[in-house]
This record gives sequence, C-alpha cells and structure tokens, in this order.
Amino acid sequence: MIEMKNVSKWYGSFQVLNECSTSIEKGEVVVVCGPSGSGKSTLIKTINALEPIQQGEIWVNGVGVHDPKTNLPKLRSQVGMVFQHFELFPHLTVTENLTIAQMKVLGRNPADAKAHGLKYLERVGLLAHKDKFPGQLSGGQQQRVAIARALSMDPIVMLFDEPTSALDPEMVGEVLDVMVSLAHEGMTMMCVTHEMGFAKKVASRVIFMDVGGKMLEDCSKDEFFGNPEGRQPRTKEFLSKIL
Ligand code: ADP
Ligand code: MG
Repeated sequence: MIEMKNVSKWYGSFQVLNECSTSIEKGEVVVVCGPSGSGKSTLIKTINALEPIQQGEIWVNGVGVHDPKTNLPKLRSQVGMVFQHFELFPHLTVTENLTIAQMKVLGRNPADAKAHGLKYLERVGLLAHKDKFPGQLSGGQQQRVAIARALSMDPIVMLFDEPTSALDPEMVGEVLDVMVSLAHEGMTMMCVTHEMGFAKKVASRVIFMDVGGKMLEDCSKDEFFGNPEGRQPRTKEFLSKIL
C-alpha cells in the first residue's frame, strides 16, 4: 500500500531524510518513533506530497507520488491525515468541517456528504455535537472530529502525526481508542507516536528514526519490544527515556 525506496530529502543543505526505505502492506499498522527533529513529520508528509523529495521513490497503492504526472489532489483525497493540532476550521460547525472536503474534492452532494460525515461522527462517539463549533469542544473531542473528517473521505491509508501529544493526559485515551478500533478494522495506518502502549497493542511494525533522518530500525513489534539486545544503542537509549 505504501512503498518508499531510498527516499532522501534536504532543506537547503540540511539533510532531513536519509535513504529511507520501507514497505507497508494493506492492513498493517506501522508506528514511527524517534527523537524530536529526526524527520518523522517530514517523512509522513512526503507520503501525500505535502513535502517534495529530491531522491528516491514513493508509491501509494501503485501510484508514484514522486512522479510529476501524478494527480496530487486525487492522491491526497485517498490519504487521510491527522495532525497534532487538529486543524479544524474554527468558523465552521462540526458537520460543516466533516462535509466541506467531501463536496469540494470528491464532488459529493450536500445530503450524501452529510450522511457520510455523520456516520463517522457517530463512530467516534460525537454525534450529539454535530452543530457545535470546534472551540466548544475539548481537545480530545476535536481530535476525534478530525479523525472522522479524514475517514469521511474514504481513505485507503491513514497517516497520523503525534495525534495525542497536544492533548491533556485524560483525553489521550479516547483518541487512542478510536485509533485502536480503526486498526482492528483493518485500516492501513502509519502513526508517528510515542504512545508505546498503543504500539504494543496494535502495531505490526515499528520504525525508529534518528537525527539525520535515518531509519535505524524497521522491525516487527515483537522484535522491537521483545528483543532489546537486538536494538541499536540509540534505540535503547531512547526507549529507556520514554518507557
Ligand atoms: P520530527 O517530526 O521528527 O520532530 P521534523 O520532520 O519536524 O522532525 O523535522 C526534522 C528536521 O527538519 C528538524 O531539524 C527541523 O528543524 C527541520 N525542518 C522541518 N521543517 C523544515 C522546513 N520547512 N525548513 C527547514 N527545516 C525544516
Ligand atoms: Mg514531528
């Protein structure tokens, strides 16, 4: 579903991604972790071409993201993305937030878009809040709306960039619960997160990035957590700080 081959990227002379390669099968949940500044956000953004790459190849469901001929709006409509700071439109209601891209990007009529959006709003447990504005919701609720909004586009993969790190601790669980249920339903997911409980529960693989944009580890969850002796020194050091 996602294939990266020797992906490198520079900001000016600073190399932010260094020969990153990985392959994510349909239904896999891959957790990406690593220290701040190691290129995790940049990596995630290259997958829907929010950040261009200078070297390598990225394929999403057989479509070449790096290919200048690729229809990027179409690609992006198939790749759901959830950020740390929910990025909901503050001046639109929850329902309007859920429907606007469905209408503008997918061309759905308002009634279909609404029915579709509310179905996902119900899934994240927030149907009763459909007429509120984002500012009237808690951080955890806003993030669940952001997930429902992404799902309303019927994505083939979902990318998460630290979806719980801006939340008050008591709201982390409700967002992770939604992500766990998505994982159990077979959604292909790539999640930048330091929630190792989530990784242990649902990840199929863990990628560890180090400063300089190198993927130091790309292994199964069982290998990552169950065989600390097999890990790189940088990984051990990182895990000893966050576990
Ligand atoms: P992470 O998500 O792992 O913290 P990022 O992908 O956000 O890492 O950033 C990786 C490195 O690239 C950091 O050193 C950051 O300062 C730098 N960087 C990120 N975005 C830009 C940009 N638009 N221009 C220049 N440098 C950037
Ligand atoms: Mg980041």
